[in-house]
Amino acid sequence: MRLSKFFLPTTKETPADAAIASHQLMLRAGMIRQESAGIYSWLPLGFRVLKKVEQIVREEQDRAGAIEMLMPTIQPADLWRESGRYDAYGDEMLRIQDRHKREMLYGPTNEEMITSIFRNFCRSYKELPKLLYHIQWKFRDERRPRFGVMRGREFLMKDAYSFDISEAEAMKSYNRMFVAYLNTFARMGLKAFPMKAETGPIGGDLSHEFIILAENGESEVFCHRDLLDLPPPGLDVDFDGDLQGIVDERTRLYAATEDVHDEAAFAAIPDDKKVSARGIEVGQVFYFGTQYSEPMKARVSHPTQGEVAVHMGSYGIGVSRIVGGLIEAFNDEAGIIWPRSVAPFDVGILNMRAGDEQTDAACEAIYNDLIAAGLEPLYDDTDARAGGKFSKMDLIGLPDQIIVGPRGLKDGIVEVKDRATGERVDLSPIAAVAEIVRRHGTKY
Ligand code: ATP
Ligand code: MG
Repeated sequence: MRLSKFFLPTTKETPADAAIASHQLMLRAGMIRQESAGIYSWLPLGFRVLKKVEQIVREEQDRAGAIEMLMPTIQPADLWRESGRYDAYGDEMLRIQDRHKREMLYGPTNEEMITSIFRNFCRSYKELPKLLYHIQWKFRDERRPRFGVMRGREFLMKDAYSFDISEAEAMKSYNRMFVAYLNTFARMGLKAFPMKAETGPIGGDLSHEFIILAENGESEVFCHRDLLDLPPPGLDVDFDGDLQGIVDERTRLYAATEDVHDEAAFAAIPDDKKVSARGIEVGQVFYFGTQYSEPMKARVSHPTQGEVAVHMGSYGIGVSRIVGGLIEAFNDEAGIIWPRSVAPFDVGILNMRAGDEQTDAACEAIYNDLIAAGLEPLYDDTDARAGGKFSKMDLIGLPDQIIVGPRGLKDGIVEVKDRATGERVDLSPIAAVAEIVRRHGTKY
């Protein structure tokens, strides 16, 4: 992409109403625009990151055996009357009336709808297990929308739902999602820790929130320090094998959110291993048994027990919240520092003398070579001043920069800068492209 043709409305001023770094930087970097409280347009730069995050989530859901589909944002109220949640959900639910005065709502989550889909088509235990997901916009009329996309009213969520014949089988589905989540966040460069959590309006018996530690996080969490050192399971994990060991390794260490925090259990941890911190909830998994399948009559024939209600779980990831969470985790005074796997572009090319024949030609060659190598460069081909180019590129946080100027080219070199470390190396244009390709080979 050529910057002259792109749409990147960056600003220098720090917006007054943005309280934390990620919100400020998303506005300054031209990633989002607020349309009303907690509702945002995703401008091209932000949209590219959102899509990268979504794609990693999708790939890891697929790897874990979940099957993608798409349910609508608008749901009929009657479905929610069946589960008893239409009244229980309260003011967070956006209620709508259509032209026939039928009551509708903008879905805050999809347990009811997926349960009704399941019961419509699946009647036999032979259909089980089933693990279905979609990535769809949700609406929750939050009391206090804040921190930009981190607590929006309209937000993008991946929500998966599992259907099993028994609690024991449902635990296997739970473990699949649990392990998939560890890999998902690791691929984005995030350390997300599973913590025992309250089930809230979703209901149920067992739940973990996945939390990234962050000073400005809204959640208060408590855990054993050793949990923070465990490496992710890795992409070669066998999802059809026994995942209990991987889950146990994480859940035997104390880790809990504020709502279910157990003072006595925490006190028993040696002092040098006690962690009490703030964090951002990026995902949550629930097992809730027959809470929806019972009232909604989602039953299957059981080989020996006749008709039984299916055991269900649901599994959310805050796709749009993660974009803000990533910036909270990766930024400095100059701006954002994207991990390579989610960066909006892989590399920036800075033409330090646009209009100079030799400099233009060198930039064009680098730009084309990077594209040919399968990378996505953003080429600053504008005639802006050097200082402005440097600060804009640092602000938007692409992982690598190639700085091309007439002085270097006279000696046959360009400069390659690593945004995260600030390290600079002088290389020939060809070696610079090879170096960028090499760095991106180690994406995850
Ligand atoms: P919170 O406690 O932060 O309000 P929640 O527990 O109500 O979230 P879930 O029902 O678990 O949310 O939804 C799944 C995921 O969706 C959450 O883990 C979070 O990452 C994301 N999410 C929830 N509410 C919002 C919101 N208002 N804005 C952006 N993302 C959200
Ligand atoms: Mg939650």
